[in-house]
Amino acid sequence: MRHIYIHVPFCRRRCSYCDFAIAVRKAIPAARFVAAIRREHELRRRLGEWDGEPLETLYLGGGTPSLLDPEAVADLVRHFTGEAGGATRPQESDLEITLEANPEDVTREAARAWVACGINRVSLGVQSFHPGVLRWMHRSHGPEAPARAVKLLRSAGVRSISLDLIFALPESLEHDFRSDLEAAVALEPDHLSIYGLSVELRTPLSRWISRGAIAPPREERYAEEFLLAHEYLTARGFEHYEVSNYARPGFRARHNSAYWRGEPYAGLGPAAHRYQLTRSGEWMRAWNVDQWAAYEPLVAAGTDPTAAREILTTEKRALEAVYLGLRTSEGISPADPLIRAALDEGPLLKLAISKGWLRNGGNRLVPSAEGWLRLDQLVVSLTTSAGGG
Ligand code: SF4
Repeated sequence: MRHIYIHVPFCRRRCSYCDFAIAVRKAIPAARFVAAIRREHELRRRLGEWDGEPLETLYLGGGTPSLLDPEAVADLVRHFTGEAGGATRPQESDLEITLEANPEDVTREAARAWVACGINRVSLGVQSFHPGVLRWMHRSHGPEAPARAVKLLRSAGVRSISLDLIFALPESLEHDFRSDLEAAVALEPDHLSIYGLSVELRTPLSRWISRGAIAPPREERYAEEFLLAHEYLTARGFEHYEVSNYARPGFRARHNSAYWRGEPYAGLGPAAHRYQLTRSGEWMRAWNVDQWAAYEPLVAAGTDPTAAREILTTEKRALEAVYLGLRTSEGISPADPLIRAALDEGPLLKLAISKGWLRNGGNRLVPSAEGWLRLDQLVVSLTTSAGGG
């Protein structure tokens, strides 16, 4: 598989907005986790789901992968990169190996160990630099932790550092998003992921809102702060290359870009998704049971932990290709046969161009920041005749 995602489900506590499949643990069962991932990998090979393609990107996401001890991280990385044809991949390797980390987990020893096993990209869950906002989010780090973490990662030799920030917070928090952007840029990251807060069911946030303890975020605030980030970061040399992602030239996330291009990928661990071509030539998306407590005994017993699978029809793949393509600054090509199967080139397309939401750049349709603000609406408008409406 060219692209492998490993879902590390452990967190110290649940953040107020988070509905991810996580396992809150004080003690992290790192060795058991590594053993479970190796077993699932072996199982997928036995099932014939693993091809011999050379690895290009490995992504340890979560959850909080940085809660694994550095030896466990190295075991996982070496297991997959060793298979890709080298015992230990140095930083000069053309593999992209990403670790998601919380700032408070970055120590000098951990950063050195991560680099030694080949990790060359670290995505830090910063979210904000405001102490009150961090407390409200239930984050376990303070506002000083990201600067310390970035310094340690740089001096250990991590090639690419990404920071996550959240915007569109409830009014009552009086969040100054611009100062978060300033603080983030001052750390000279290579990449930034900027997410608008969304209220998900079964989160502390949704419970606070339903009992009236806090008002939900205003939609206008989302639009204002989305455009503020776009203007602020593009003026400082970042490319806005995907609706939520910015990079300095040469530092786009290759792993995530593979998702947006509709390339196949493997996913291991609880709740991990995978997307691949079956032996019978059909495109399949499948995902594992989402709870660690269910996943671990299944793989220990040699049972496939898949929760569900879907075979994607050509129509569905075409709609996804339009949606994923329009998430990116590459846009979509109406000449691509898959895109052509979904794209409605009728009056709504002309309207989107006349409004400036889409630009007809050569032979590609490319969204503007204003277009990204209306991404869902845009996709529905452009795919109505293919069933998108
Ligand atoms: S650290 Fe990340 S995955 Fe864990 S609870 Fe917080 S937002 Fe969710």
